[in-house]
Amino acid sequence: MRLPQGFADDVKNQGDIVRVVSDYVSLKKRGANYLACCPFHSEKTPSFTVHAGKGLFKCFGCGAGGDAVKFVELYQKLSFPEAIRSLAQRAGMAVPAERATRVGDGVFGHDGHCVRS
Ligand SMILES: [Zn+2]
Repeated sequence: MRLPQGFADDVKNQGDIVRVVSDYVSLKKRGANYLACCPFHSEKTPSFTVHAGKGLFKCFGCGAGGDAVKFVELYQKLSFPEAIRSLAQRAGMAVPAERATRVGDGVFGHDGHCVRS
C-alpha cells in the first residue's frame, strides 16, 4: 500500500479543502473562511472553521483540525494512504497502481532467490 513519494503532496495541492469538506458538511461562508457545525462532536453553535486560503480546518469545540487529507481520514475513518487515494480519485488524478510497486518488490525477491541458490 505504499504510495510514490510526492504523490501525497500532489493530492494535497490539488484538493480544494472547501470543496472536499462541503461534500460532507454544509458550510456557511463567513468572511474569508467557512463555518459549520462540527461533524466530529455534537454542537448547536458552529465552531468548525475551514480556512480556504490555508487549506486547513479547525474545530474550536473539540480541537479537531488539519488539512483536507486529515478531514477525510477522520470523517471516513480511513488510514492516511486510503484518504490520499480517495482524494486523488475525487480530483480525477491517476492513482498509482499497486502493481507498479509489486514489480519492484518482485525483482528484489527474485534477486534474493538467485543469491540463495
Ligand atoms: Zn468539533
